[in-house]
Amino acid sequence: DRFPGDDSGDRTPRQTPGMLYSKAEPTPVPQPRLIGWSEELAKDLDLDAPDEEDVKILAGNKLTESMYPYASSYAGHQFGTWAGQLGDGRAINLGELTSKKGIFELQLKGAGPTAYSRRADGRAVLRSSVREFLISEAMFHLGVPTTRALSLVATGEKVLRDMFYDGHPEYEPGAIVSRVAPSFLRFGNFELLAAQRDLPNLEKLAHWTIDRHHPHLSGENKILEWFKEIVQKTAFLMVEWQRVGFVHGVMNTDNMSILGLTIDYGPFSFMDNYDHQFTPNTTDLPGRRYAFGNQPSVAYWNLGKLANALSLLFEDLEPLEEALNSYEATFWNAYYGMMGKKLGLDRVNKEDKELISEFEKVLSEIQPDMTLFYRKLAEISSETDENVVFELFDPVFYREPDPSEKADFLSLIHKYKNRLRKNSIDRNTSAAIMNRNNPRIILRNYLLHQAIDELENGNQQFFNRLQEAMKSPYANEGFDDLVKKRPEWAEKKAGCSMLSCSS
Ligand code: AMP
Ligand code: MG
Ligand code: MG
Repeated sequence: DRFPGDDSGDRTPRQTPGMLYSKAEPTPVPQPRLIGWSEELAKDLDLDAPDEEDVKILAGNKLTESMYPYASSYAGHQFGTWAGQLGDGRAINLGELTSKKGIFELQLKGAGPTAYSRRADGRAVLRSSVREFLISEAMFHLGVPTTRALSLVATGEKVLRDMFYDGHPEYEPGAIVSRVAPSFLRFGNFELLAAQRDLPNLEKLAHWTIDRHHPHLSGENKILEWFKEIVQKTAFLMVEWQRVGFVHGVMNTDNMSILGLTIDYGPFSFMDNYDHQFTPNTTDLPGRRYAFGNQPSVAYWNLGKLANALSLLFEDLEPLEEALNSYEATFWNAYYGMMGKKLGLDRVNKEDKELISEFEKVLSEIQPDMTLFYRKLAEISSETDENVVFELFDPVFYREPDPSEKADFLSLIHKYKNRLRKNSIDRNTSAAIMNRNNPRIILRNYLLHQAIDELENGNQQFFNRLQEAMKSPYANEGFDDLVKKRPEWAEKKAGCSMLSCSS
């Protein structure tokens, strides 16, 4: 009982009403070369290290008999505006893999045009592919829900890209990432069917998703129960992004996973200095819709668009609205729980919530390095001499705080020390909780930039080193050279046009 799709193999860009997918064979590339491989993911998928024939598959140069390559159609709201039909413009699904860990979809990103490529080429450049490959696995090891990346293959093909900082089109090396997830379905898949008023397929896709991914749900209200779970998972994902300081950069509804995974890595960045207004996406200026601090409320807005689509399946809309509105309480509950762990608190009561807000306020003022700050904070105890506070935190500041900021900071640390005295757990235990929840190593944009630079010059040592380092983000030692503030040269290049973000 398959979904309706276009099996003709026609990849001419077009509208495909009534079709949930269009068959799309990958376009072969001249010279596939394996650069990256995730051994951890391969193990979960029961896959051996790839041989030459396997690399052909990962490059889109070979299909096996059991594969059925297709691109799925979806729609979406981009930057708050309805964008109509979109779809996998440069992702081609090869099919499903069943392993001891479950059923996974495998897709190639950058394998050539599909019916949904519009005016673009369906390719991806090396820099964006390196970014997606490394961040997918980095997020996994951080414990943040995410799609995974199995391989990174250089294609030997040059891809034409407009490097907008100098205005001249430029050729760049191409690459293909193979991505893996239980499902790549997005809010936008459901929005498309709703926009087309294709109720039978909307209902069918909802039921398929529930049966496959939420099999514990049953009964008359299961679409509602499913939506509640999407709300919860999405809220939880936002809390996780806040925990590690991750900014997605393009939270359009077509980039929102129905499973609450981080999906479609483009101009993402971790925050260096703590700044709610930070966005890594230059096309998101001046509005900063997708800035760090806006992500939780944008997720809610996006869930509203999904609820709108699903509302066609409801007679009584009130329960659906209620489910949507449960987002706020779910988010804040999880958020305070998470912050309690970041601060090493045994529990979070009302005064603790005020303390957490004060941390936010003071950090926003002084803008220390978020990651380094929380690791440093674990070194504070109720006994710490307040005269050494600025010496201790000096390495995590990007600039010297002014006198009033210093006073605020000291008062914050003073309150924190008092709170530690009330902990029912000892400081070693509490610091250990902190260090399991506050990463020491994150995939900073400038590190990615360095790895990409070197790879483009044929040297992959630093890339390998980053891949290795990202496997133990909470380790107390090792890779000391990666545990540093963003250097000044990188600050000047902040923003996507210079620091290798999109396409
Ligand atoms: P994104 O902002 O990367 O999520 O992309 C938005 C839409 O544009 C998606 O439907 C993509 O598949 C499509 N797209 C982005 N880049 C390309 C490309 N190089 N070739 C074809 N389609 C693309
Ligand atoms: Mg083999
Ligand atoms: Mg996308």
